[in-house]
Amino acid sequence: MTSLIRSWVDSANAPDSPFPLNNLPCGVFSVDNSAAHCGMAIGDFIVDLTMLEAKGLLDLGAARLFDVPVWNKVMEAGPALWAALRAKVTALLAEGAASRAAVEPYLVPRAGATLHMPFRVAEYTDFYAGRHHAFNVGTMFRGPENALPPNWLHIPIGYNGRASSVVVSGTEVRRPWGQVKGPDHAVPSFQPSRRFDIELEMGAVVGTPSEGPVTVAEADDMIFGYVLLNDWSARDIQAWEYQPLGPFQAKATATTISPWIVMKAAIEPFRTSTPAREVPQLPYLHEPRPMLYDIALEVALQPEGGAETIIVRTNYAEMYYSAPQQLAHHTTSGCAMNTGDLLGSGTISGPTKESRGSLLELSWGGKEPIAIAGGTRTFIEDNDTLILRGQCRGDGYIIGFGDCTGKVIPALADPYAR
Ligand code: CA
Repeated sequence: MTSLIRSWVDSANAPDSPFPLNNLPCGVFSVDNSAAHCGMAIGDFIVDLTMLEAKGLLDLGAARLFDVPVWNKVMEAGPALWAALRAKVTALLAEGAASRAAVEPYLVPRAGATLHMPFRVAEYTDFYAGRHHAFNVGTMFRGPENALPPNWLHIPIGYNGRASSVVVSGTEVRRPWGQVKGPDHAVPSFQPSRRFDIELEMGAVVGTPSEGPVTVAEADDMIFGYVLLNDWSARDIQAWEYQPLGPFQAKATATTISPWIVMKAAIEPFRTSTPAREVPQLPYLHEPRPMLYDIALEVALQPEGGAETIIVRTNYAEMYYSAPQQLAHHTTSGCAMNTGDLLGSGTISGPTKESRGSLLELSWGGKEPIAIAGGTRTFIEDNDTLILRGQCRGDGYIIGFGDCTGKVIPALADPYAR
């Protein structure tokens, strides 16, 4: 296991800093009303790469990469440039670097910065690849005997979501209206969702594009990095609409991602294997090396004006399918993948009650309210804030992802009453 790479930015060397020099996650920020720039988090600061490039301090031998307030140009440039960028920025910020005096004017305190979407999302695909989650949900709907659909152990099941509803951490999420099943055979009703929920997921961000089918190894090389992802879900709308084509409006309100893309190189020391295969998989899904990561995850729920309660503790290593497997499967039809495609992992639940990654599972379909500071919850109430957090724990340092936060604000008055 690698150890802390020391920086002349003192706050980056603290053992509990989420952003040591080992991390260098990619974000987009602005201060006051200035233009948004690309930057990397380092300790309590953001190093302004747009300015470093403009001042000639970050020459990577390529056309300008940071003259637009998104990371897509870098993502498309591919693994060799990603490595060169990390090497260059590491050299500029390393303890004892002669470049300190030149670079220091372009450090911006994180505390005063506004974070924006770090990349332009091309398309968003969401998977259903956590075995514990699929088993829990299947048990609730079909009983434990038929919990897993017959295809589940063979196919990373997914559906095409919406890029237009992916938002950055901090964006408020308005409780949606939707069509909900009526009692027995009565007419359905149109109402605000009463079972609004989170899904704790990781998002894989596609860097380099593909045209035809790719292998799992090639898919891994295409992935630029990872973000935390909250796939907000209206369970009452979902239950009525999802057969036979899967979720639609239940998942279309918003998907929140964390503001920093953690590059694969930062989490390379934390690679781990998917769990043992329960049945043999087709050769195109075989993983040539470990493709998951040991990322400790948690979810906090904070009511308006109240204290937060940690309601979930789990780990990305619980997934049955890895993101490279999902991406490879996504291309089997010949489906082209583009720079900026976002792949949701599926809800990351573990084997214990505390490790269930959605309120649907935590409250077992709303039947078993969970305790929080000052009350209980089955599903999200108005003005609750949900906070996803993730970190890899290294030897004397951690790799943080930055909070993935969203506050649920009350539904509008009937949007069709006019
Ligand atoms: Ca999902």
